[in-house]
Amino acid sequence: MTMTNIEKKKNSSPQGFNPESLKKIIRDIPDFPKKGIIFKDITPLLKHPEAFRHCVDLIAEHLKSLKIDYVIGIESRGFIFSPLLAYNLNVGFVPVRKQGKLPSLTHRMAYALEYGEAVLEIHQDAIHGGARVAIVDDLLATGGTALAAANLVEKIGGKVVSIDFLIELEFLKGRGKLANYDVFSILKY
Ligand code: AMP
Repeated sequence: MTMTNIEKKKNSSPQGFNPESLKKIIRDIPDFPKKGIIFKDITPLLKHPEAFRHCVDLIAEHLKSLKIDYVIGIESRGFIFSPLLAYNLNVGFVPVRKQGKLPSLTHRMAYALEYGEAVLEIHQDAIHGGARVAIVDDLLATGGTALAAANLVEKIGGKVVSIDFLIELEFLKGRGKLANYDVFSILKY
């Protein structure tokens, strides 16, 4: 499916979803988890079966021609979407987790996100050398989280073919930080 067709599908699904109607299902929570942050709460979308399915299907459509070997999910909310995509594409799921959660040998990367700092880890043997991967998270803010995940994938020999989000906060210019990658998002703010 070409990008144009995905754009068409984004703008009118059989159930009548488009970015504007999906945005109405997502809640803004001001001052969470810190003062000044407007948190995009996706839980109302997750419990809406057709809207949730539509969003997963759009990302799957984007990935399906890219010959992905693994979908990499970023803890925590990336874990909601990434295993569904791996299942849909019939490829493996690999977790990138917060510090201290993965049991075997890891590589780690410290990074800054919109509202703090954190460390991400990946198992050193998570993928085979040359594997083509898509990285998935719920939301792109400053891009620090996704860039750390991409760097970890590259450190263990993977090729980042796509980085995919439900939501992109365009005003934070995270896409600029990910300029070396193909970035796909469904809803832009
Ligand atoms: P960043 O590294 O700045 O791109 O931050 C992205 C990560 O932080 C993602 O895992 C998001 O789940 C989370 N995040 C950052 N800002 C927000 C926000 N305004 N609403 C919801 N989640 C956010």
